[in-house]
Amino acid sequence: MIKFGPSGNSDSFYETCKQSTQAAAWCYARGLNAYEYSFARGTNISNETLQALGEAFANYDIEITVHAPYFINFAQSDAQMVEKSCQYILQSLEKMKYLKAKRLVFHPGSLTKQTRDVAMKNVLSNLKLLRDKIYAQGLQDFILCPETMGKHGQIGTVSEVIEMCKIDPIFMPALDFGHINAYQGGSLKTEYDYAEIFQEIKSALGSARGKQVHIHFSKIEYGEKGELKHLTFEDTKYGPEFAPLAKVLKQQDISAIIICESRGTQAEDAMTMKSIYEAIS
Ligand SMILES: [Zn+2]
Repeated sequence: MIKFGPSGNSDSFYETCKQSTQAAAWCYARGLNAYEYSFARGTNISNETLQALGEAFANYDIEITVHAPYFINFAQSDAQMVEKSCQYILQSLEKMKYLKAKRLVFHPGSLTKQTRDVAMKNVLSNLKLLRDKIYAQGLQDFILCPETMGKHGQIGTVSEVIEMCKIDPIFMPALDFGHINAYQGGSLKTEYDYAEIFQEIKSALGSARGKQVHIHFSKIEYGEKGELKHLTFEDTKYGPEFAPLAKVLKQQDISAIIICESRGTQAEDAMTMKSIYEAIS
């Protein structure tokens, strides 16, 4: 099954609503069945608030997923910094119990002044460390999704994310197709371009894991160094287009949660994706 939903609230949400607990009914009325909640600026939200949100979304059978804090950077070698990144993840997982959320999406890390090779080696060894902590705390039922990134200074190509997921079954790729397209200067055009990515995942992680992915989809403006900014579906210049991806998802019977990160119209664009997908026979 494919679920569609917004990352946070659309601008239009605030025309009639104020509180995020209202987002459950709001999304349900629009036929959406997923919602990504952001801990991007930290996990400093009360357990009561999260519990209320979790219950509101569960009542409407909408699946909540979570985006981890932006401060995370596993590409470093400094032990203290790595420990901080681990703690951001572990704190997020603890908070997610109240939200009844299972999937945590995170940005693997930035190169800063290192070569890509060194940065990637750090990511892999630090994620192994994180994996051990997660098991030690009994949190291995959560799914951690390293995200494909859009800027050249970030770790997170499709192949890099696959390498991270090879570490342990607790990891699942978060394919941000807007980022993949921006990183590669507009590489996603045809069904084949998308199918190739799923093929790479299936051959590396196995067919079952390849059919269960987390997806972010939005159009993103890019330049020489990759991602510049998130756009809306109004854009016709940068892409990528959802229609060819919808066909691949249908053909390959892929189960995914698809989160739209359009700038201000994320719920509306998620609805558009849902109708494109459902129109395929
Ligand atoms: Zn992200």
